[in-house]
Amino acid sequence: MKARALVTGGAGFLGSHLCDALLAEGYALVVVDNLLTGRMSNIEHLRREGNFEFLQLDINRHFDCGPVNYVFHFASPASPVDYMMHGIETLKVGSLGTFNVLDIAHKYRAKFLVASTSECYGDPLEHPQKESYWGHVNSIGPRSVYDEAKRFTEALTMAYHRYYSVDTRMVRIFNTYGPRMQLNDGRVIPNFMKQALRGEELTVYGEGKQTRSFCYVSDEIEGILRLARSDEHFPVNIGNPDEFTILECAQRVIEVTGSKSGIRYSKLPQDDPKQRRPDITKARTLLQWTPKIPLNQGLRMSLDYFREAVAMETTTRA
Ligand code: UDP
Repeated sequence: MKARALVTGGAGFLGSHLCDALLAEGYALVVVDNLLTGRMSNIEHLRREGNFEFLQLDINRHFDCGPVNYVFHFASPASPVDYMMHGIETLKVGSLGTFNVLDIAHKYRAKFLVASTSECYGDPLEHPQKESYWGHVNSIGPRSVYDEAKRFTEALTMAYHRYYSVDTRMVRIFNTYGPRMQLNDGRVIPNFMKQALRGEELTVYGEGKQTRSFCYVSDEIEGILRLARSDEHFPVNIGNPDEFTILECAQRVIEVTGSKSGIRYSKLPQDDPKQRRPDITKARTLLQWTPKIPLNQGLRMSLDYFREAVAMETTTRA
């Protein structure tokens, strides 16, 4: 019999790419999403598959999807604009939702992998960030709804592992991008792609000296699958260590799109991390994983998707 996996947040950007990969690995999937930030269009192509079942439900309420062998917990708003707009929902899914999903893993003795985040490191004082770094998070700032929810998720996951022997794994995901990102989710790459393709100025926050390290989605998924097959219970960073200032990122997008757009500087959001780069020594040695796609190539690979998304938005607006 085929192994059956539950994917929460499976209609989201990353969740839907994970569904593609798990189906290709031979899993039968039950995907749940409340469609707060996920979209049916991300999984429309999978609904014809015999091994694919979709349930629109809120995992913050008790639910039971029946026996599963693996649980992939990816449900949560993930872009700063989304999680600040849905702050309470973000805290609920990181806490109540995570309890419910861990209970399913416990009940059915399923393996469990949760999507955590580089946001656990906050505005980091250690650079690059190793998994051993405890982070520097403002627990009452505007980003805390996400950062603290994910830190609680990690604590809860470790507790289910320690007290109930649930076979858990945690991936700390660093800025991932690629096709299926929502054009208006506010993250830097969709914003810049949209602006460049429309010939509008690219909005760089602050002076654009803050840094991020961008991982193309297929690299991220490969790292997650390798972690899923491993026996590592402590967090593992999966991200691309090539670090760029946001200004450099804007220049790369202009280059790849061939846009004539200029740059407009605007206010830096509160508590915006000044620097972020994963130390991926652990993933390299433990999982023999290393990202392969440099930023320019990943942007080129995303170009058709963003072009189409911009064109569709223009048509629906007209
Ligand atoms: N940013 C920017 N212009 C935008 C959107 C984001 O300069 O239109 C900056 C933002 O201030 C941050 C970085 O780009 O420093 C990455 O932001 P994003 O929202 O993608 O994710 P974060 O890494 O902050 O969670």
